[in-house]
Amino acid sequence: MFKKNRHGIQIKSAEQLEKMRAAGLVVGRTLELLRRSVEPGMTPLDLDVIAEKAIRDEGAIPSFKGYQGFPATICASVNDEVVHGIPTNVRKLREGDLISIDCGAILDGWHGDSAVTVGVGEVDPELTELMRVTEESMWRGIAALEVGRRLSDIGHEIEKFVRSQGRRFGIPQEYGGHGIGTEMHMDPWIANHGKPGKGPVLEAGMCLAIEPMVNLGTDRTRVLADDWTVVTMDGKPSAHFEHSVAVTHNGPWVLTALDGGKERLAQL
Ligand code: MG
Ligand code: MG
Repeated sequence: MFKKNRHGIQIKSAEQLEKMRAAGLVVGRTLELLRRSVEPGMTPLDLDVIAEKAIRDEGAIPSFKGYQGFPATICASVNDEVVHGIPTNVRKLREGDLISIDCGAILDGWHGDSAVTVGVGEVDPELTELMRVTEESMWRGIAALEVGRRLSDIGHEIEKFVRSQGRRFGIPQEYGGHGIGTEMHMDPWIANHGKPGKGPVLEAGMCLAIEPMVNLGTDRTRVLADDWTVVTMDGKPSAHFEHSVAVTHNGPWVLTALDGGKERLAQL
């Protein structure tokens, strides 16, 4: 019933993909709500409360909560925090901050996982540019999810786009995307950099979470004493975007995008 290919990658049936889509939409709608909710004076914990209610109201379960001991529904990573920030009410969001919100939910046994970075109020143009480059790199990676292409094409397209942007951004090498389905993190791991044409051939029915992180400065990171929060080594800001995507014979189906990714993919 849960089929895997010879590389150990879960291959979903058409019916199972519909269930992945339903889970993906719960995450997509929750993130859209959070994106609209962000404003100066809120705390990351306020956003976490909104996220948990939105997910449970849809009959789904927050997948991060309790995952390897993680205490919350969302990861909230502010400014120099790259990923895996724990939402608290210690510090209020201020005008000019960046917040990366990562969110996952389980519906009917199937997972969705997606992330956005949002500016709090008006932000510096340099940060707007960082968000634009990171999000666009994600879409370039997603566009590589065509039947017959190779896994490493994804990271290659992400890196190629980031490197074409005329300034030296950092791409943390130790974090990347992943397969997703009956578990949040499944094979394969997906680098956000590297050479094309390597790794397993992409097949219809694979579901992959594509999630570039891009730093304004160095690609080097460290983990804080809470054992979760990843921050940039030089203290410069970072952005993170993620979608869960199905490989289909009709091209990539962006399960966590409300329109399935149609509009953005058509613009590439
Ligand atoms: Mg995520
Ligand atoms: Mg993920």
